Amino acid sequence: MFASILIENENDSYTARLTEVDEADLPEGDVLVDVAYSTLNYKDALAITGKAPVVRSFPMVPGVDFSAIVRDSSHPDFTPGDKVVLNGWGVGEKHWGGLAGRARVRGDWLVKLPEAISLKQAMVIGTAGYTAMLCVMALEQNGVRPDQGEILVTGAAGGVGSVAVTLLAGKGYQVAAATGRPEEGDYLKSLGATTIVGREELSGKIRPLAKERWPAAIDVVGSTVLANVLSAIKYDGVVAACGLAGGMDLPSSVAPFILRGVTLSGVDSVMVPRAKREMAWAQLAENLDTAKLDQMMVEVPLDRVIETAPKFLTGEVRGRVLVPIAPDLA
Ligand code: NDP
Repeated sequence: MFASILIENENDSYTARLTEVDEADLPEGDVLVDVAYSTLNYKDALAITGKAPVVRSFPMVPGVDFSAIVRDSSHPDFTPGDKVVLNGWGVGEKHWGGLAGRARVRGDWLVKLPEAISLKQAMVIGTAGYTAMLCVMALEQNGVRPDQGEILVTGAAGGVGSVAVTLLAGKGYQVAAATGRPEEGDYLKSLGATTIVGREELSGKIRPLAKERWPAAIDVVGSTVLANVLSAIKYDGVVAACGLAGGMDLPSSVAPFILRGVTLSGVDSVMVPRAKREMAWAQLAENLDTAKLDQMMVEVPLDRVIETAPKFLTGEVRGRVLVPIAPDLA
């Protein structure tokens, strides 16, 4: 038996509770792991609160990511003792996830942790940070370079935003950090932001084209903010869009695309093929200033996960929420 968050949905009653789960109840898979750390991501908050239909089968152990040590494996690539990380693949949505002492998953979903990243650091980064890395890769694949000027990051004080700011600064970019929390300005500057942009500058009336301000942006907010960002991207610029913290709609026009040649690059972290994941984790190991991780992280024990989840939906979380499950494994 091991401790686990369990979500149930019976007779129209949606509940999440901390309980004990039997290893025999774990879903099928060819690798059994002891979870060292998991985290809370925005999607986990939606799953735990039931505010969006993230969970697709019940009962469900939430947790879209974990770092872990392989306990048992019939997969050719993994042997007991391997340090691994998992992000996405529907884990925590349709396959039991990381907010539990143990997990059984498909080995094809696992990535071996680079030597330079510890089990703890892997989950301070978590799915939010790995997605930030995918966003930076998307910008660079579209030709963005540090000498082009400040790159905009929206929702900067959140999880994806904090890692994106740190990553970009570490790679030599100047970073404009957009936030609705001006009190987090010093925090964002400590991560490497060069300019703080008030969220209200991106929340007003949407013009088809606005003054050209940034050559590129990473957007986690969607909706009005993304529409305003697109209008203010410089000629031939790029926006990597990965989130919907402000809404799923996009009240924009084609003007930025057809009159300024702007590229909107969608970023999904869930179904990314393994080779690209390995590339992202290798780049995180190489480019992320891990000394910055402590300041962007708060630790929440498993028994406080359920009460913490709603804070994501009110935009109260700063940086990343780390959930130590068995830190002694590290
Ligand atoms: P967080 O809650 O940590 O951060 C989101 C940030 O967005 C907040 O901190 C806040 O930043 C800003 N924000 C929140 N609400 C609003 C609003 N109504 N209007 C404008 N800004 C707002 O979440 P994460 O960083 O973990 O995730 C961010 C988004 O990215 C989520 O939508 C998540 O689902 C998505 N995501 C997508 C992935 C993918 O595979 N595509 C993977 C991971 C995340 P501030 O206070 O600085 O303004």
